[in-house]
Amino acid sequence: MAKVHKWILVTGGAGFIGSHLVKTLLEKGQSVIVVDNLSTGKKTYFKKYAKNKNFKFIEADITHPPFLNVAIGSIYNLACPASPVAYQKDPIHTLLTSVLGVKNVLELARKNKARIVQASTSEVYGDPLEHPQREIYRGNVNSLGPRACYDEGKRAAETLCTDYHRIYKLDVGIVRIFNTYGPNMAPDDGRVVSNFIVQALAGKDLTLYGDGTQTRSFQYIDDLIAGLIAMMEKKRTGPINLGNPKEFTVLELAQKVLGLTGSKSKIILKSLPEDDPKRRKPDISLARKELGWEPEVSLEEGLKKTIDYFRRFK
Ligand code: NAD
Ligand code: UDP
Repeated sequence: MAKVHKWILVTGGAGFIGSHLVKTLLEKGQSVIVVDNLSTGKKTYFKKYAKNKNFKFIEADITHPPFLNVAIGSIYNLACPASPVAYQKDPIHTLLTSVLGVKNVLELARKNKARIVQASTSEVYGDPLEHPQREIYRGNVNSLGPRACYDEGKRAAETLCTDYHRIYKLDVGIVRIFNTYGPNMAPDDGRVVSNFIVQALAGKDLTLYGDGTQTRSFQYIDDLIAGLIAMMEKKRTGPINLGNPKEFTVLELAQKVLGLTGSKSKIILKSLPEDDPKRRKPDISLARKELGWEPEVSLEEGLKKTIDYFRRFK
């Protein structure tokens, strides 16, 4: 019997992370189908694949999934706005994306007997009381606050994935991604790295929320893509943290961006958004052990590449 040609489905493939993942998968000779509603993503990344027979793009929302007339071998479920500004614009739809949307994608995985890697997030730890965050930590999330549509949605998505695994033996992998940055972030994305770089290059004030003592651990996109692919290939269930364990205050980030761009911009203080986590740093022992993965790109090196990318928009 002839072997059926299997496609890799990347939902949310037109977003920041998706655009890099699709490029890497195509370079590895895989066939990739993207389903994306283009709410924060851009089809322009795919212009260069217009004649590529291994690539298909379908504009659709995972809460109303399209019929796919190809065999799917594996799925990366990335569809969901990730910037607090973007996910709070339509909070109800954000929550539905992670519940109804994820259920639809899980059903598709079931129908195709496909492995699915779900993009979860460090936000499932909320404003963490344990530091650094290990996967066994159950988190400190405000279910009523403005971030809840994203945090609780992603937590519910983990529950759905785990129940599909338990009940239907579906081959599921959950990764908890920590703050990731790099080229292809939209200039108006609203997350801190792109905001600071765009502001510094335009000579505008850098908007520091709060007093800048809150911390984050910033991971360069190439490291994350290697981790996502390792998770798919090594068939672990997880959840597994994927992040760079080097922790910086947001003020340190602002100063680094000013230094690397040579900008004369000032840092101005703005109010801290409600429920903004005070500290965040992944414990990546599990990723090291289970995936043989760890990040390689330093913040300075990653920022330089990202700054070079954003110079084009000046
Ligand atoms: P992004 O906003 O750039 O990309 C999200 C993509 O999903 C966009 O192309 C958007 O149009 C699409 N999308 C959103 N809702 C959809 C829906 N209902 N149906 C179909 N498409 C939809 O964000 P990103 O940084 O690339 O994040 C990708 C995934 O990784 C998200 O699931 C996010 O939660 C997760 N994640 C990202 C980070 C990070 O730091 N970048 C951290 C943790 C988790
Ligand atoms: N932040 C900031 N200035 C900005 C955007 C964000 O000081 O212009 C802060 C934000 O309050 C948070 C951190 O930077 O403490 C990271 O924010 P981001 O939106 O990138 O991601 P989060 O980790 O909060 O989801």
